[in-house]
Amino acid sequence: MQSALTWNEPPLVHRENDWGPDFANDDRFTHEWWLEDGHFGPPSHQWRSYRLEDEEVARVLLSLRYVSHSPIPSPHALLIWSIEVREDLRQNGMRLGTTIVDQIAEEFSDREIYVGSIPGANGFWTTFGWPMCDCDDCRGRNMMVRHP
Ligand SMILES: [Zn+2]
Repeated sequence: MQSALTWNEPPLVHRENDWGPDFANDDRFTHEWWLEDGHFGPPSHQWRSYRLEDEEVARVLLSLRYVSHSPIPSPHALLIWSIEVREDLRQNGMRLGTTIVDQIAEEFSDREIYVGSIPGANGFWTTFGWPMCDCDDCRGRNMMVRHP
């Protein structure tokens, strides 16, 4: 399955008062995450649409210039801002979300990767075994971080 999973960046389009990624209008994704927030754009952010066998199966928003929580902060870290597997494909044994996060971790193997607390998804994130960030702000409570 992994080899068949591909992603592309949806085109950015202007809307009435805003602009944003042109994701398909698909109710199996959470609208407000993907269609109503155009405040994030390149080059600091990247929207991704993942496809499997010509169907969109997941969406991701990455912050590519996230500032590391390390003692010498640099905007060289990555933040997985959002990830959503299509509703009908969750917890069906395909492990799409896990595969996508593994691929991102490999793609950015030389960078710190942060994950904030995502409501309802903490069980998903604990499967990766990434430690909690122990910086003075997080104190082991707020975010997970995968060190290079
Ligand atoms: Zn931290």
